[in-house]
Formats: sequence, structure tokens, C-alpha cells
Amino acid sequence: MAKVAHFRFYAELNDFLPPVRRGVEFAHAFRGDPSVKDVIESLGVPHVEVDLVLADGESVDFSWRVRDGARVSVYPVFESIDIGPLVRFRAAPLREVRFVLDGHLRRLARYLRMLGFDARWRADAGDEELARTAAQEHRILLTRDIGLLERRAVTHGRWIRETDPRRQLLEVVRCFDLAGTIVPFRRCLRCNELLEHVEKAAVAERLPPRVALRQEEFRRCPSCGRVYWKGSHHERMERLVAEVVGSATGAP
Ligand SMILES: [Zn+2]
Repeated sequence: MAKVAHFRFYAELNDFLPPVRRGVEFAHAFRGDPSVKDVIESLGVPHVEVDLVLADGESVDFSWRVRDGARVSVYPVFESIDIGPLVRFRAAPLREVRFVLDGHLRRLARYLRMLGFDARWRADAGDEELARTAAQEHRILLTRDIGLLERRAVTHGRWIRETDPRRQLLEVVRCFDLAGTIVPFRRCLRCNELLEHVEKAAVAERLPPRVALRQEEFRRCPSCGRVYWKGSHHERMERLVAEVVGSATGAP
């Protein structure tokens, strides 16, 4: 005989549900003895976006077996509610925020690097490699593919809602509260490596004359050798940073 449990999803977890199930309690019929993780994913919500599950008011972990008649409340990782002494699934947040992005998010990866964040991206990285990189290197997986977030190996991830790269950047900065940790002009936009200071004399031959006249500070990528200076693209970058920080903190 089918059993029935009542579910309610909070805040942005509702993005994964059909409209009639958003923000309301709904009945879900099931058979057998499934874990709450499996039921949540069968309803369309990736487990990595879930931080807290209450079953009849008690916090439970992902392996908890759903009981007939249970009332289950599911909260997202980034909702700012005070859950005080209750058990969170991930006891400690990742200490340093690092990302790995799927093949569709090339421009977002460049924007993140522009702001100084470690953003691993390769055009040809397959799903398995992305999941493995996220797990082994403790990176947050950013993807437009919900299925990728359902892999067991993935513990930290986000399904990117926005489609425009600038809006995606703002989404990530807001979601992971990064506005205070932006350090522009420190990472190679092409290969994600940290830039090194380099003497002007060492790169003088490679500089356009106009740049050699006006610029004194140079940095070089140790991997691809590309030389960076505070030219016109730097001004665009500073405008982007101001825009992102402004919108993330609500300043005008
Ligand atoms: Zn480089």
C-alpha cells in the first residue's frame, strides 16, 4: 500500500518545484522505505542545495527513512534563518571559497577570475570529472545542469538560475556572500593561475610602446606567460567590481 508524507520546501528550493508545489505543504505518495535524500531528489531538488531537513519538527540527516504520515520541512543552504542548535548537514562551511564550473559557464568563470576567485573551468570537462574535481579539491560546483548536482560525490554546489553572465556573477557573489573578499587583478583570466609581480625591464620588449610609456606596474601569469597591466580593460573591470559590490550590498 502506498504511504503518504507531507513536504514543504523553503525559499529558493522552490525554484526546482512545479508552481503548484511552491511555498505550500503538499502530499507525496511513496512506496517502500526510501531515504529522505532519495525522496527530495525524486521531487526534483538536488541534495547539495539542502542544508536542513526537519521531520515532525526534529532535524534528521539524509539517510533518515521517510515514515507514513510524516511532515517534512526542507531548507536551503543559503537561507538566512536562525536554525541555532539544530543539526546542519555540513558542520563546517568550506574554508576557502573555490569553484569548478561546467562547460557552459565560460564567461562566468572569467568574471569570477576577474574578481580574484579561484574558478576552475575547462571546455571539455565531462560530468564525472567535474564531480570528482569538486569532491577532491573541495570546490563548489556551479552548473546549469541539475542532474550533475544529484551525483553522490558532490557535496557543495549550486544550480545557476540566471542565464546572462553578468547576472550570473551577481547571483554567485550574493549567494556565497563574496562581496567582501573581492581582490581584482590577481588571477590570469585565461588559466586561473595567480599572477606574479614582474619588473618592467623584464617585459619591456613585449609591451606596446604606448603601454611602456604610461605603465609602471606589471604582473605575469606563471603558466601562460601573459602579461597584465592596469590598462583600459582594468578600468572596465573596476566598473564591474563597483557594480557587483553595489548590487550585492544594496548600495546605490
Ligand atoms: Zn595564464
